[in-house]
Order: sequence, then structure tokens, then C-alpha cells
Amino acid sequence: MAPNARLDHRNPLVFDTHELGRRPGALQRLTREIDAPKDLGIQGVIGVPEGAPVELELRLESVMEGVLVTGTARAQAKGECVRCLEPLELALEADFQEMFSYPDADDRGRVKAEPADDAEEDEDRLFIEDGLFDLEPVLRDAVVLALPMQPVCQDDCLGLCSECGARLTDDPDHHHDAVDIRWAALQGLAGSLEDGEKDEMSGADAEAGVDEKQEK
Ligand SMILES: [Zn+2]
Ligand SMILES: [Zn+2]
Repeated sequence: MAPNARLDHRNPLVFDTHELGRRPGALQRLTREIDAPKDLGIQGVIGVPEGAPVELELRLESVMEGVLVTGTARAQAKGECVRCLEPLELALEADFQEMFSYPDADDRGRVKAEPADDAEEDEDRLFIEDGLFDLEPVLRDAVVLALPMQPVCQDDCLGLCSECGARLTDDPDHHHDAVDIRWAALQGLAGSLEDGEKDEMSGADAEAGVDEKQEK
């Protein structure tokens, strides 16, 4: 949302502080279920699908300079395992706390100029506008922080075979005896190779760069 754009009370991520009032110490708890906005999460890695339910639990506390908002968001996040690329889903719980300031006072309580005049200083501050505040940037930051940067389907996921792409967790004994077409030809003559010889062969694979594959 562009700065200074008026907040829309019909936006489900916009909350009204009129009921709370401006008396310091006043408290209000509320819950709301919303549809996840677009791109909620870490793009291309894991996130809450657009439109999926997000449960919000908020506690609003009136303080001198504004409203302190503390809360939790719960949703199901979807992504894929960075090692084996299998789809995965996890229960997301993101906590947040943010101060929304009244626009008529700066953090020292002084009456301040128009927000546009000292935009640089106020870049990271969030404001209450006409008694409303927009939780969306707070929710976005909290969700990104709560999600794993490198999600895995299971902690000990073995990833994929670098030669054939098989998922190794499904088949931990999976391996390739022949790593090069020349070795593949020799394999018939040599018969079965001893386990100890396999390690030496992996060097030949890199050097040859042949993408010929042979199953055991
Ligand atoms: Zn995996
Ligand atoms: Zn393989």
C-alpha cells in the first residue's frame, strides 16, 4: 500500500482502535480469521497459499503514543523440501509485537510535522490513521521470520541421487556401480566389483562428464 493511502476498514487486515479508546492501559483482545493475502511467506520456498485461512489472535494495548499490538498468526504453510523436492506442509505459528503510533506525536511525544516531511526518519514506524491500523506488513514480516529458509520433509532427508534423481530416503541402499560408459562396457567382463573399488571410480565420472547412466 502506498504511504498515506487511506486505510479501508473493510480490508480484513485493517483493525479499528475506536472501541479500545486512547486511555493508556486500556486493553482489547480479539480474534479474526482471514484469507491469506498473496505472497505470504518466502517466495519460491514456502508460504501460506493465497486464500488459505489464517487465524489471528490479537491483544491491543493503549499506550501514551499509540497502540501496542501483540499477537499470533496460525496457518498451514506449503512448500517443497529443498533436498528431495517433495511437497511439504507445516503448521505455522508466527508471533509478533508492533507499536502503531498516533500520527500527531513523535516518539518523544512532540507534535510533529506532516509525515511526508521526515519520511526518512519515519520509514520503519507504523501509524494509526483515522483510528485504524494495517496489520499486513507486520503479519508478512512475522510469517517470513517464522518459516524455515531451508525447509526439509524430514530432518534426515537424504535428498536425491546426483546421477539419476531417485529419492534416496525411499531407497537408502541406492547406488550406481557403473559411472561411465567405458566402465559400463567393462562391467560385463569384470563381473561384480568389490565395494572398495567404487570410491575410486567416482573420479572418472566427473572427468568424463558423460551422462550415460546405468542402473546396478
Ligand atoms: Zn526431502
Ligand atoms: Zn541414482
